Amino acid sequence: MEKQSAYRKTSEIVRRYDFNFRKRFGQNFLTDEGVLQQIVSSSHITENDLVIEIGPGIGTLTRYLCEAACQVAAIEIDRDLVKILHETLSDCKNLRIVEGDVLKVNLCGLAAEYGVSDTSGSTASSGGLSTEAAAVFPKSGQAFRCRHLKVVANLPYYITTPILMGLFEQHVPAERVTVMVQKEVADRMTARCGSRDYGSLSLAVQYYARPEIVTLVPASSFMPSPKVDSAVVTMQLYKDKPVQAKDEQLLKAIIRAAFGQRRKTLSNALGNAPQIPVTRDQTAKTLTALGLPASARGETLSLQQFAQLTDALADLIR
Ligand code: SAM
Repeated sequence: MEKQSAYRKTSEIVRRYDFNFRKRFGQNFLTDEGVLQQIVSSSHITENDLVIEIGPGIGTLTRYLCEAACQVAAIEIDRDLVKILHETLSDCKNLRIVEGDVLKVNLCGLAAEYGVSDTSGSTASSGGLSTEAAAVFPKSGQAFRCRHLKVVANLPYYITTPILMGLFEQHVPAERVTVMVQKEVADRMTARCGSRDYGSLSLAVQYYARPEIVTLVPASSFMPSPKVDSAVVTMQLYKDKPVQAKDEQLLKAIIRAAFGQRRKTLSNALGNAPQIPVTRDQTAKTLTALGLPASARGETLSLQQFAQLTDALADLIR
């Protein structure tokens, strides 16, 4: 099937299958060819790559991904869309459609089925691509191996943060993640220390990856148009994290507490957090020892400074 104008094709499929958009699944289909191409090019997909797509919808972006990648596994929750995808993308021989909730799918297991188990392109046991790591081509039965994993999605916005944090915290072996998100969320993901949008999401994302806004996308680029504007963000995942806190869980708890009570000073916010056993006085003194004001608020600390504070407080707590 030829790539027709995305808008025309989307309208035609919606009409042909009498498809009803489900708001609860965040169904806003992208119909702008230029943006579709920008998503693919900013994903840096090669012919050796496995792409996991989250929420393929009627498969407009999926077709582009199948052209660029070795293999594509597309996870879709809506059974009606799964049926449509099987028909409209039947010519994409390197596509596997997985019906399910992305938050429940074992993404590491899925990647491992295609021979991708770490970000270096090696299988964990062999240190290189092995015959055992090769999987079987879903439609033709041919053997194939993928070298790297890229995750690409026009995300369902109602679960943006759980999806992103799931990818990072489960150590899904992706080299790069490229997603369409609400514009405000893109601003928070990429915000630098001291800016208005800087907060726990900025730090959580920037702990794992280097995020970059690729392009802004107006609501009119979707069918139906959402109430918000959007942006494409691409994230190159770090092989080595930019900071090494002695206690990662404590670092995350401190960041959560710092921005849970944004208007409060850090010493008050941490003093009020039951899971962090430090007094206001201890935090204030530690901040001073680190060369920071005793009355500093979370939004003035960089990720590096949060890691330093965590290490110093971890020594006190122990
Ligand atoms: N990729 C398509 C596009 O760009 O036009 C559709 C994107 S639409 C914003 C989000 C898609 O995610 C929908 O197809 C929706 O059914 C699907 N979806 C919503 N929740 C999901 C979940 N928990 N797991 C998998 N897919 C989900």
